[in-house]
Amino acid sequence: MRLREVPALSRSEHDRSAHRRTDEGWLAEAWQRARVLVIAEEGTTAVTDTGTGPRLAYRSPDAEGPAGLRLFLGERDGTPYFATLPGSGGATLPGAVPGGERWLGLPAVAADLDDFDAGLLVTATALAGWHARHPRCARCGAVTEVIHAGWTRRCPDDGSEHWPRTDPAVIMLVHDGADNCVLGRGKSWPEGRYSILAGFVEPGESLEGAVAREVAEEVGLRVTDIAYLGSQPWPFPASLMLGFIARVDGDPTLRVSGDELAEARWFSRAEIRAGAVRLAPSVSIAFRIITDWLDAG
Ligand SMILES: [Zn+2]
Repeated sequence: MRLREVPALSRSEHDRSAHRRTDEGWLAEAWQRARVLVIAEEGTTAVTDTGTGPRLAYRSPDAEGPAGLRLFLGERDGTPYFATLPGSGGATLPGAVPGGERWLGLPAVAADLDDFDAGLLVTATALAGWHARHPRCARCGAVTEVIHAGWTRRCPDDGSEHWPRTDPAVIMLVHDGADNCVLGRGKSWPEGRYSILAGFVEPGESLEGAVAREVAEEVGLRVTDIAYLGSQPWPFPASLMLGFIARVDGDPTLRVSGDELAEARWFSRAEIRAGAVRLAPSVSIAFRIITDWLDAG
């Protein structure tokens, strides 16, 4: 069982070329002919739309001379791609951008970008977010230096190396083997907005263990037939969403924990199709999992 469509943020067409990250000579030469994504402090980038949908507005390295941190994203057809973070290097973003460009964040444009642009922007957003949130050594607190073209930070005091974080989170549709599934409403969500259950994987835990624990904690159900569906990076700030489906085992009575959910209940396919709930946006893996399940019944 797999998702029928690749989730919007899981698309990617560039070669990450990880072996280049430590090749200073190559990186310096590649920068001269690179295409560059400028990522602003708040995570936005310049997007242009010439009528065929949004495209990332790549710069040439000397166009604006951003002095900030350089991140090597990868290559395609011999062309190197970098991101720069002007805010991190003391430089400021140019106040005006060429006509027709807008500064937008990943959530606003991801679904409409082509596979190549989507993959680069997800990677750049995830890396930029890590640098913004982890400037210091986790051991001693010293400000770390950036090495390996943005893929490692090293502590100048104790020499420890630190890598970008990806935090696994499980997200699961629980069904009854027939026509009903469990949807919950988060405490901060508006009335009518529901989604499937989700939670972070804990240290020492398997993915299946996390699915079973989260379902038990949030709605008091036991589940079986846990099956993996697919994954999607979700760099807000650093999650990797791992999608599952599971069937309730035994008593289907929901006992909702007030810790995370305002409410949860069983919904039939007919209710969801009839618009009884407002689902998560189509860019989310939750939307893909729910619509696949709807179409399977
Ligand atoms: Zn240190």
